[in-house]
Amino acid sequence: MIGIAGLLLPAGLGQLWAAGSSVHVVRKGDTLSGLSLQYGVSVSQIKSLNGLKSDMIRIGQKLKIPEGLPAGPDIGKLLSGIRVDRQRWTYIVGHHSATKYGNAEIYNRNHLRRGMENGLAYHFVIGNGIDSGDGEIEIGPRWKKQLEGGHVRKREVNLHGIGICLVGNFEETHPSRKQMASFTRLVDHLGGSVLKHKYKFAVHKEIDRNHTVCPGRNFPVRAMHERFG
Ligand SMILES: [Zn+2]
Repeated sequence: MIGIAGLLLPAGLGQLWAAGSSVHVVRKGDTLSGLSLQYGVSVSQIKSLNGLKSDMIRIGQKLKIPEGLPAGPDIGKLLSGIRVDRQRWTYIVGHHSATKYGNAEIYNRNHLRRGMENGLAYHFVIGNGIDSGDGEIEIGPRWKKQLEGGHVRKREVNLHGIGICLVGNFEETHPSRKQMASFTRLVDHLGGSVLKHKYKFAVHKEIDRNHTVCPGRNFPVRAMHERFG
């Protein structure tokens, strides 16, 4: 079985995304971009799995379709209605919560209690199925109001960095498949559609070196850099 994981991602994440593929017989009117939307995979994934050199496909051709990410929220829709200050954001930073439980509201209360006047230090929280849905993306007030984060020590990165927190302690457990799918989709959307690829991807420990293990040893840092640079 060959699929997206084997093509794009190193072994660690491949296990997380047990991959498979299916076959699509090309019909009249099919295009690679249409199939990409239909199956939730990118045009380049379809092309590389099938060894296509161009975007030309012909009726009756059998195309292997890589297994897409598991179904998840429609990010574009979820974030629509929020006016993004595009000039501001130049980093996207991944975190874990370092706790087993939690959701945006619970962390918001904690952060307020710790004296952060804007509450929830992250812009987004991705649930693990305990206090919010598995892979559910919660939008924090700082994203809605386009306020700086409070998720790292480095001031410049707080000012310009979008903070995304996955619920869980990934020193001990692994992020769920749905959490990683939502994270990937969210960074794809923010970094691609919103920031037009003009940003730097990092995880917390790469920003605040020697101060944190966040997002934990089981977070697939290398695979995410393969994807996001
Ligand atoms: Zn962190």
